[in-house]
Amino acid sequence: AAEKKGDAKIEGAVQVAIGVKKEVDFAGWYTSVLLKADMLEYYSVSGCYILRPWSFSIWEIIQEWFNSKIKEMDVENAYFPMFISQKALEREKDHIEGFSPEVAWVTRAGQSDLEEPIAIRPTSETAMYPYYAKWIKSHRDLPLKINQWNSVVRWEFKSPQPFLRTREYLWQEGHTAHLTKPEADREVLEILDLYRRVYEELLAVPVIPGVKSEKEKFAGALYTTTVEGFIPTSGRGIQAATSHHLGQNFSKPEMFNIFVEDPNDPSGQGKTFVWQNSWGLSTRTIGVMVMTHGDNQGLVLPPRVASIQVVVVPCGITAKTSDAQRAEIGDKCSELVKLLKRAGVRARADLREGYTPGWKFNEWEQKGVPLRLEIGPQDLAKAQTLGVRRDTGAKAPVPLEGIDKAVPALLETIQNEMFARAKALYDSRIREVTKWEDVVPALDNKCVVAIPWCEAEACEDDIKERSGRSAEPQDERAPSAGAKSLAIPFDQDRWSKIVPRQTKCPACGSDAKRWTLFGRSY
Ligand code: AMP
Repeated sequence: AAEKKGDAKIEGAVQVAIGVKKEVDFAGWYTSVLLKADMLEYYSVSGCYILRPWSFSIWEIIQEWFNSKIKEMDVENAYFPMFISQKALEREKDHIEGFSPEVAWVTRAGQSDLEEPIAIRPTSETAMYPYYAKWIKSHRDLPLKINQWNSVVRWEFKSPQPFLRTREYLWQEGHTAHLTKPEADREVLEILDLYRRVYEELLAVPVIPGVKSEKEKFAGALYTTTVEGFIPTSGRGIQAATSHHLGQNFSKPEMFNIFVEDPNDPSGQGKTFVWQNSWGLSTRTIGVMVMTHGDNQGLVLPPRVASIQVVVVPCGITAKTSDAQRAEIGDKCSELVKLLKRAGVRARADLREGYTPGWKFNEWEQKGVPLRLEIGPQDLAKAQTLGVRRDTGAKAPVPLEGIDKAVPALLETIQNEMFARAKALYDSRIREVTKWEDVVPALDNKCVVAIPWCEAEACEDDIKERSGRSAEPQDERAPSAGAKSLAIPFDQDRWSKIVPRQTKCPACGSDAKRWTLFGRSY
């Protein structure tokens, strides 16, 4: 088997796993990491990819965590069909204007053309809300909080990128209806904070929470909140997840007409149109995690989302090793795995025959397993194992005594240090800029800029145009060279005070309102 799969047969041999350097050819590196880690397979329909078990297991961990949190908020899971009638889809004007270029339609079944084409959901507002109108009869039916785990289809024409931008992708979409606006506003932020925690606490990826500009908000929303991520290697921002307040845009009489009798109107005649939210987190999470932590040896998984957190590899077995010793080492590895599992660690022993330890090291490194424990005759003699961290490569003996405490603690350290490193890097790439001439050089240095911005839509268009001008001409399907607004961060205190009527927008000279992150983006 070793002949079939590997070329590094010498124990301890190190090979450059990925072949393409992250800093040299980032796009090539990214796909190579995904393929070599068995995360992804290309598919015969362009823009669609197969999520293999090694990546799907990460999605399952995210699902499990997020489900438990939203259930605490009394959100219930349900399932709506993937097809939407043309009439329902086109009910909300701003919404359909935003989505129509990307909607895929079914026009034929077998040999016959359909009487009316049927849309495949790009998102489910228009699939769900006709039924919200039917189910919500009284203020006692509120709040209604439904989530679904499904896939949506957006026939994007920008270059597809595995996980980040795919034509079909997995996500959850939550859709809630409330009696009052303040109640809906509160939920928008509660969900956004769960998204922040998925990134920061599970994936060890820092994000910045904020609100989107008018131009960048969700089609049909009153406002959109976002957690914005950043890919240091390319210097581009990425919208990591969004939580929208739809206001009464979809509940109005001319839309889906979702109302209850106003419980506070003494005449009993008054109607209140419900206040709605929608919120979504997709498998983009996985791509951002890979780009953030991966290195030239392959994937690096944060322990909390690794389906195998610790791999135990028998080592130091030579032609001279006796059968009894060989068996003892194998048994020790299995015993250790049992002990670690009892301590809640996802551990596996790699006892496959015919592969050298070096070959195994390389394989688990490519797949990003956070911690390797090596056990050889000498380690056994000293009642220890050799621990090797995937994130730093640091090696240190781990005594067998108390290992069921030491390993979980080490995994926590790895998780925390991965996050701290990624956060320091993101922070170091946010430039406070108050003069226009500093904007493009900062972008060219793979930074995002925080500018005191006027928040005018025309100014945003202008910034995009002017910041893209200097760049090399690009394929129009490539990610844009011009900067767009990424987020208006909630935490405005990280920058100096904006003085009303005194601080000016560096792009257009009008009065600045709030610090806003602009950057090239995915
Ligand atoms: P939206 O409904 O447009 O707010 O999208 C919800 C979330 O899904 C966004 O915040 C993105 O993180 C993610 N997303 C949007 N488009 C794609 C795509 N083509 N592939 C993967 N994830 C996406």
